[in-house]
Amino acid sequence: MTRWPAIAKDVAAFPVQPNMPDYDAARRDFSWDQAREELAGLPGGRGLNIAYEAVDRHVAEGRGGREALRFIRADGGTRSLDYGDLAEQSGRFAAVLRALGVGRGERVFSLLGRSPELYAAVLGTFKNGSVFCPLFSAFGPEPVRQRLHLGAGRALVTTRALYRKKVAPVRDSLPELRHILLADADGTPEPGTLDLAALLSRADPIGEVAGTQPEDMALLHFTSGTTGTPKGAIHVHGAVAAHYATGRFALDLHPEDVYWCTADPGWVTGMSYGIIAPLVHGVTAIVDEEELDADRWYRILADQHVTVWYTAPTALRMLMKAGAERAAGHDLSALRFIASVGEPLNPEAVVWGQEVLGLPVHDNWWQTETGGIMIANYPAMDIRPGSMGRPLPGIEAALVARDADGKAVVTDGQAVLVTEPDTMGELALRPGWPSMFRGYLNEEERYRRCFAGGWYLTGDLAKRDADGYFWFVGRGDDVIKSSGHLIGPFEVESCLMEHPAVAEAGVIGVPDPVAGEVVKAFVELKPGNQPSEALQLEIIGFTRKRLGAAVAPRLLDFTSTLPKTRSGKILRRLLKARELGLPEGDTSTLEAPAGPAPGLGKEQP
Ligand code: ATP
Ligand code: MG
Repeated sequence: MTRWPAIAKDVAAFPVQPNMPDYDAARRDFSWDQAREELAGLPGGRGLNIAYEAVDRHVAEGRGGREALRFIRADGGTRSLDYGDLAEQSGRFAAVLRALGVGRGERVFSLLGRSPELYAAVLGTFKNGSVFCPLFSAFGPEPVRQRLHLGAGRALVTTRALYRKKVAPVRDSLPELRHILLADADGTPEPGTLDLAALLSRADPIGEVAGTQPEDMALLHFTSGTTGTPKGAIHVHGAVAAHYATGRFALDLHPEDVYWCTADPGWVTGMSYGIIAPLVHGVTAIVDEEELDADRWYRILADQHVTVWYTAPTALRMLMKAGAERAAGHDLSALRFIASVGEPLNPEAVVWGQEVLGLPVHDNWWQTETGGIMIANYPAMDIRPGSMGRPLPGIEAALVARDADGKAVVTDGQAVLVTEPDTMGELALRPGWPSMFRGYLNEEERYRRCFAGGWYLTGDLAKRDADGYFWFVGRGDDVIKSSGHLIGPFEVESCLMEHPAVAEAGVIGVPDPVAGEVVKAFVELKPGNQPSEALQLEIIGFTRKRLGAAVAPRLLDFTSTLPKTRSGKILRRLLKARELGLPEGDTSTLEAPAGPAPGLGKEQP
């Protein structure tokens, strides 16, 4: 991989001193027990509940008047909920669930845009001791049915339009689904549904948060479906210790922050870092009710004085494509930290942040299964562009050797670790951190297969350099085997993006009788560039010079849009299936071809 110069940090010049000034010292001194002690716990030692840590604790400690959530409406206007409002509204939602007989451990689903009702429903569900499962509002009826069925959804909160379009057609096949609450029924719910606002207005907020225990299930999250059928990952209340610690170290949250996570709560990032971590830290969280739009986003960053911004590579690439001039004229001086997750972050994007936004972008890595950030670039640590950073305090990460079939090598019950620097292995984590998933719903065997020789296997391939920085290579299934070389698509895609005409690229391996596989690139051009044979050859030549003939793409097609998941990840498996004329597999999370650009948010009903 072309190594870009490191970006050095001058901590003394920071406007706010970082929570973790010294990475090595923090790793040495940290313990999960200590992180747990910093949580409040339920009064009277009754247990641990995420909603109490996120909301009621602040009210009990006199911070009820602090602004918790600031919603940005389509017209740019705002509406806010303070911690006191949120405590009350979630208490009412819990009371409604109680009155309906929705019990501890039973599943409450949402199919909603990013509206205040969603946030009250999440926290109210926790307060009732029930389990929350957010669905992304742009899902079609079949993905909605599948997930409600798999999760045995007891109650669903949605809107009239979404109900009509996506739930009514499949309702008869969901006998377990007892209650459908419409957030916008306005006095006239659809037949067979309930008017949420009316129920809330009649309810008295519950007095006491349910006495859940750290190992009680709190959340069910479906994975993105990038590699196949989405899996339902089970998470517990005790995970909040990890949301707290990672919010502190990897996002550097301080109570006075105005923080914006652009992910939709339908995905784990929007839940762990759009709701739980910021509220536990008592910050003000921005929620944009609309979709990605370059001018709108720059306006929000500037007008709302966002200090910490957590976004995704797909969004950053979109802003890059829109052109640096769009950022000009917006005062981004409040911004002090930018982080990204979800896909590999091309070094180009890290450096673009520095040049256009005045700050580099800090990549971090985690998955639905890990429940929280595991590897990150931190404010006080130099960035090596293209690296995911180093493991969080309390997290032990390693690379496990794989055999020719891609299976982890285990001898005498211990996984064989790759210790040589810059050598590829499967990224693995030592189990035991609080937000680790506790299972895949109804898929015990699949869960068991994630562990080998004392490690949790992530399915991703990575390298580690001599200083302990991790470098993403690719998902296990995406790696290309060509003439004896193992090629990670990320390296090739990042190189393609360095070409001035390229906006975005997806790279796959296609079968070849001689080489086994050859590298094929699908390239989206920046506005103002036309596909041509000359450009095709030029881009291939450009990558050959940098990567060498063995790694550079042999084939290159131009495309106007790369297939992506609703959360904005490039679906390489679909590029491959289409290229080879194979069945497309599970496409429930595929972004609608005509839909708004990266699917970070809700669909317009
Ligand atoms: P599925 O498991 O259903 O195929 P998914 O793995 O995309 O979908 P998520 O849990 O949302 O579902 O995504 C986690 C994955 O995203 C990681 O395993 C990794 O492959 C990728 N990822 C996340 N962050 C990064 C990052 N910073 N760099 C590289 N890859 C990342
Ligand atoms: Mg996955």
